Amino acid sequence: MSRSRVRGWWKWAAVVVVLLAATVSMTAGSDASNGTETYDVVIADGRVMDPESSLDAVRNVGIRRGKIAVISTGPLAGRQTIEARGLVVAPGFIDLHQHGQDAENYAVRAGDGVTTVLELEVGVADVDRWYGEREGKALINYGASAGHIAVRMAVMHDPGGLLPSGDAAHRVATTAEREEISGLLEKGLKRGALSVGLGPAYTEAATNQEILEVFHVAAKYHASCHVHIRVSGPPIEGNFSGFEEVIAAAAITVQSTGGPNVAQELHMIADARSRGMDVTTESYPYTMGMTSIQAAMFDHKEEEPAAYYASLLWPATGEHLTKESFLQYRKQGGMVIVPGNTPENVHVAVVSPLTMIASDGFLAKGHGHPRTAGTYALVLGRYVREEKALDLMTALKKMTLMPAQRLEKRAPMFKDKGRIRVGADADITVFDANRIIDKATYEKPLQYSEGIQFVLVNGVLVVKDGQLVDGVFPGRAARAPVLNEKLTP
Ligand SMILES: [Zn+2]
Repeated sequence: MSRSRVRGWWKWAAVVVVLLAATVSMTAGSDASNGTETYDVVIADGRVMDPESSLDAVRNVGIRRGKIAVISTGPLAGRQTIEARGLVVAPGFIDLHQHGQDAENYAVRAGDGVTTVLELEVGVADVDRWYGEREGKALINYGASAGHIAVRMAVMHDPGGLLPSGDAAHRVATTAEREEISGLLEKGLKRGALSVGLGPAYTEAATNQEILEVFHVAAKYHASCHVHIRVSGPPIEGNFSGFEEVIAAAAITVQSTGGPNVAQELHMIADARSRGMDVTTESYPYTMGMTSIQAAMFDHKEEEPAAYYASLLWPATGEHLTKESFLQYRKQGGMVIVPGNTPENVHVAVVSPLTMIASDGFLAKGHGHPRTAGTYALVLGRYVREEKALDLMTALKKMTLMPAQRLEKRAPMFKDKGRIRVGADADITVFDANRIIDKATYEKPLQYSEGIQFVLVNGVLVVKDGQLVDGVFPGRAARAPVLNEKLTP
């Protein structure tokens, strides 16, 4: 969930050291056309943009059995043809940070051009069960991390929902509990979890030692750590202690995370990268955040000025809180929208070449934060078209290739995502760059983005002519290889 109090929107993911040998096939630029073959789907005459090969030209794309089979200057025959003249044909967007993982959320995400949504921060405790529950039932591709938050809640019998509200938030773990936590995380990684999720901001009582142990488990499996950093001490400029915790853990285990002080922390990440540490980060384009009102960060908030409570928005009813309603909802539980960051800081993060775009999305029964439905169209509409603060190819790279590269060492299936390339998965988003814009608001978070015309997941249309397609479930598990117990490290 987004960090509240200070810079709620801002998140960092991080990862393993070894740089990937980028043996990039150049077939994406090839002109091999074959008028005699019939493809399952042809996307005709679109402006094909591939951030890996830098291809940016009008092409025809032929899809067969869920894969991109050809990219051609010549015409192609297809059983189904999508007329994409005047539209951008891009890799489907990959969201590394999405908590809503059900049909409602998948539909909204498809409407924003997203083809793969991953719960990598909070993560899950039972990896097999989580993947099993979605098999054959998902509109878009899905995946999860082994989550320290979720596992700590299971081990310490926490009564909270998505986030802890009892012992998992407030109590130091015993040695036996720490061993059980590490064991369950290791089991999740063996079962193909994509990475390890952590949120010391939500598990405040977890010691530096416990967090370091989690990083050690991740390092053993070459898994990245996706961290919501701790808010330690006053949230003032120049206080990096939560950020330093993960940088230190990353330096020791070779992984890592994020925090406030946006510009300064981006410099620290750039410095760490220049010394060979594989630290990356993500951001979303909103000044408000959203999180659980039962989270530890709202402890000791019973005597704040009225303006503090009024700054909190309860999305289920649209009301701004008072002291009384704050205390009532604290008991009841639920999501609350909180002040996040200044527009200036959001701008710095969104346009930085270091950040991937991710949503931190979560809707429940139509209520939630507009970032769930609007993140990608907002970046492409406002930052790229209106403000010209980002060029289109760079923006697409931050939404497609960079997240795929973040995960592909541990989960090689991501080498075929985030690219328009022959042999890549046919996860494709076709949009009108002149029209794309978000429509979701804090008041009406369910409104679909405009200008997303066609979305394909594994070669199957899930958005057609700007409308969601009903009754199709082409989404597949995005998962790391499941290890044979006997061969585990
Ligand atoms: Zn989150």
